[in-house]
Amino acid sequence: MSSEFDIIRDFFTRPTRHTDLSVGDDAALIQPSPDTQLAISADMLVAGTHFFTDAAPYDIGWKSLAVNVSDMAAMGAQPKWATLSIALAENDSHWLSEFARGFFTCADKFYVDLIGGDTTRGPLNISVTILGESPQGQALRRSGAKAGDDIWVSGHIGSAAAGLAHLQGKIMLEKDTLKACLDALHRPMPRVALGLALRNIASSAIDISDGLAADLGHILHASAVGAEIYFAKIPKLPALQATVSLNNGHAGFEAYALSGGDDYELCFTAPQQQRQRIADISRELDLKLTHIGNICAGSALTVYDAENRAMVLQKSGYDHFG
Ligand code: ADP
Ligand code: MG
Repeated sequence: MSSEFDIIRDFFTRPTRHTDLSVGDDAALIQPSPDTQLAISADMLVAGTHFFTDAAPYDIGWKSLAVNVSDMAAMGAQPKWATLSIALAENDSHWLSEFARGFFTCADKFYVDLIGGDTTRGPLNISVTILGESPQGQALRRSGAKAGDDIWVSGHIGSAAAGLAHLQGKIMLEKDTLKACLDALHRPMPRVALGLALRNIASSAIDISDGLAADLGHILHASAVGAEIYFAKIPKLPALQATVSLNNGHAGFEAYALSGGDDYELCFTAPQQQRQRIADISRELDLKLTHIGNICAGSALTVYDAENRAMVLQKSGYDHFG
């Protein structure tokens, strides 16, 4: 029977890259780079709410860090340090080693040191705090969008929600589409390089965790502007669009693209003069970037369908207390 300290030593203690004092003392010590601001964010994942309790532990480990890294991407910050507070129902060494493998695979990919945390017994619950750096005054915020700016999204939207709907038996996806959607759901790829490239280019940014309509809504609220977007321009996996339309009709697919959460793509705004630079970034990063509409005066989000009629939005986005 291993103790809490054995768990910390065996699964959560690794060599670090840029940390003065890491796991093992009463606190970690870090030295932020000169002329940077620290960007700090936390996200909690609760079994049964954010993931199925029997989900692959590798995926839970990856995703618990990836969703935090995504917040750094949305700020245009370079992620550097994380803490992990975890409540475990039991001491299952296979589960822990797979969880740690997923967590550290993500940490290695995105240059993050795990520098501390807390380990306790209780219903499975994972809380990560992440710290990143951004040159003084250059962080991307939700509040800078201006009327006339273009609205952009990265990657494909709605894949993770479609993967979840498949697991819940609501729709049936065929093999290749299912794989792409489950990858999006279980192993989201934070858009860090994009966030860094958008410093001094984007006027605002957010990561899409609660659904495009809800998260764009946060930009509109913070920036005191409205927006017009075109449903047909929202980039969806082509096969997904066909499958979901067959299963649920147009109204069903709308829900995945506009209010499906968990994609962890970036939604950002930029002045029209930046179009060429954004096209260059897309090519350099080999990442699809799509112009889906524009910021306007007012405060409303209007979504136009293929016939240019304003669509009536259903409940937008996931809200734990909604
Ligand atoms: P304390 O009693 O001071 O709270 P702990 O015994 O909780 O210390 O933790 C010992 C060390 O292990 C600390 O450096 C803490 O940050 C680290 N630690 C505990 N749990 C984790 C974890 N899940 N991941 C990474 N570091 C951890
Ligand atoms: Mg402690």
